[in-house]
Amino acid sequence: MNEEQMKKELKMLLCSEKYKHSLGVGQAAIKLSEIFGYNPQKAYIAGLLHDCAKNFTEDKALKLCNDFGIVVDDITKIEVRLLHAPLGAEIARQEFGIDDEDILDAIRYHTVGRVKMSLLTKIIYLADYIEPERRFAGVEKLRELAYETKDLDKAILFGIERTIKRVLDKGRLLHPDTIAARNYILLSQIKDAGVSAFTKVF
Ligand code: FE
Ligand code: FE
Repeated sequence: MNEEQMKKELKMLLCSEKYKHSLGVGQAAIKLSEIFGYNPQKAYIAGLLHDCAKNFTEDKALKLCNDFGIVVDDITKIEVRLLHAPLGAEIARQEFGIDDEDILDAIRYHTVGRVKMSLLTKIIYLADYIEPERRFAGVEKLRELAYETKDLDKAILFGIERTIKRVLDKGRLLHPDTIAARNYILLSQIKDAGVSAFTKVF
């Protein structure tokens, strides 16, 4: 499927707002790839398709997950909006013919994150947060961290921590992979800083 066909198909799956968001994430993913050294074309496709399963009803999303044999954990069964990420990876594979596991993983983990996020997963996670349509307190700071300071992990951490705060404020269930993603980045930063920084923190 070429880019135009993908966009046409995506437009049929998404509302106009989400479609516009997807185009924005694709563009932000290209920009981030150029900064952090990833294949921009692959990043664009991952960005474009990351929310392809976003507009299914909860019932339909659950049914599709069942059809595709996606194992849904207990938290996601309740926080059903999280389903669009693993389901999106399967839709990208089946409907859009994507077989690149790096792209599929970036779609699969773009919402909750995970330990050892790949470069592309980090790019999509961040692009999702800073695409041009995004408006929230802190978005400029995050864009600055990404585009000017060019500190990918610091930016990802900022995004993950904002997500965690929002989930807590809403009194919702926090997915353990999000906590694991945060701890993993923090621990790698502490290790990078050396043992003295480690003992200082703990
Ligand atoms: Fe999403
Ligand atoms: Fe998104």
